[in-house]
Amino acid sequence: MVSLMKKDDIFSTPVWQGVPAPLFSKVIGTDRKYDLSIVGAGILGLVTSLFAARSGVSVCVLDSGLVGGGASGLNGGQVIPGLKYDPEDIIKQLGAERGERLASFVGASSDRVFSLIKDEKLDVSQSRTGWIQASLTMEALETAAGRVTQWQSRGADVGLLDKVQIQALTGAQGYAGGWIDRRAGVIDPLAYVRELARIAVNSGVHIFEENKVSRIVSNGSSWELETSTAIVKAQKVLLATNAYCDELLPQLKRSLVPVHSFQIATAPLPEILGAAILPGGQAVSDSRRVLAYYRRSPDGRFVLGGRGRMSEPSSADDWNHLARTMVRLFPQLAGIKIEKRWFGRVALTPDHWPHLHQPESGLWAFVGCQGRGVALMTAMGQSLGRFFADGDQGHLPFPVTPIQPIAFHSMHKIAVAATIGIYRTLDAFNL
Ligand SMILES: Cc1cc2nc3c(=O)[nH]c(=O)nc-3n(C[C@H](O)[C@H](O)[C@H](O)COP(=O)(O)OP(=O)(O)OC[C@H]3O[C@@H](n4cnc5c(N)ncnc54)[C@H](O)[C@@H]3O)c2cc1C
Repeated sequence: MVSLMKKDDIFSTPVWQGVPAPLFSKVIGTDRKYDLSIVGAGILGLVTSLFAARSGVSVCVLDSGLVGGGASGLNGGQVIPGLKYDPEDIIKQLGAERGERLASFVGASSDRVFSLIKDEKLDVSQSRTGWIQASLTMEALETAAGRVTQWQSRGADVGLLDKVQIQALTGAQGYAGGWIDRRAGVIDPLAYVRELARIAVNSGVHIFEENKVSRIVSNGSSWELETSTAIVKAQKVLLATNAYCDELLPQLKRSLVPVHSFQIATAPLPEILGAAILPGGQAVSDSRRVLAYYRRSPDGRFVLGGRGRMSEPSSADDWNHLARTMVRLFPQLAGIKIEKRWFGRVALTPDHWPHLHQPESGLWAFVGCQGRGVALMTAMGQSLGRFFADGDQGHLPFPVTPIQPIAFHSMHKIAVAATIGIYRTLDAFNL
């Protein structure tokens, strides 16, 4: 498996099999002019480029690394509809009409992923067997029951699970119950992002890897993007950089708190061990404040992720907390070999909402998926692609909001680190 990052860092290579990485140009050449230039070759950038290009827009996608080298190729591959907020919270925030529209948009976001894979015949390992949100306490189970009622009243295929049912579905110890969302499923995320790039190129999109955009300048009616190899001109620009935002737009970077999510994968489980662990192939997240999420991989491994340290990891020991979580849930996995460890960045916002921004005319950004972006970024990419094609803001389900940089941004990161420590302690005692 080839590392996704430029430097050959063992901790940046996920367990996913992917499909062979397509070859993209690293050299842009001169006099490049596009209707739309997208910074970031993750799910959002690629899906937007695909839908815009198919409507006749000339598009290029620029990435400082390789396609899928951000969160899109490194994530857990859990395709979960919805936001962190429940439909009624969304309605409270946006009002009945706009809120109901957004709830329906995010509720259908996993459909978009599985339809795209099917309709475009993408070579992506996938199964649509549902996602379980497991409740550790009776209080969390009550919240789950409310969630089920809200989604069922909107026609979603979801259901509440009691202690016995969740034990049978997960094989894990210690849950009071939970709920299952059958709209969800799992994919190989690296194959997905690479296949998106392949069909985008087939639709006329120009993708340039290893071209960090270091400056964007407006010259009145259009934009110039400066990279290490060229200057690209574009009528419109989308920053699809999410948690990997750099100093390109400093206020955007300061509106987010990037947090590391770490993952481990065991060796393929022997049949005798594996048969009782997620026998139905569901994905799981638990209801902890510092949550753990897990699934089986297509080649039979157990893959578990969770929050990691704020600074970049320096040794395999930095993943030990995940191995301990795994054994607490599945004592039978004690001693099983951990074969892979990797990590990526997740973008949190202070209000836990994703944000759509237009800081200047023709310059757009959509960021902050709170660690749940596979389905959301696919659906949002389709909407943005249509919007860039015809200019109709009616395609955009999220309100356009001003960028709000966090005061004392670097201290906010320290506060997050401290909060995670406190939450870990509370979670350990199920408080
Ligand atoms: C470890 C981990 C596990 C996760 N698990 C799940 C999961 O199971 N389910 C789920 O729904 N979500 C999950 N997520 C979240 C999900 O992966 C992201 O929300 C989603 O992939 C974001 O996609 P994106 O296209 O917006 O950004 P990204 O895929 O992060 O792409 C951003 C790109 O922008 C590029 N970039 C940044 N700055 C520049 C610049 N100046 N010039 C050029 N390029 C630039 C970066 O190189 C990067 O490739 C997980 C995230 C992580 C990190």
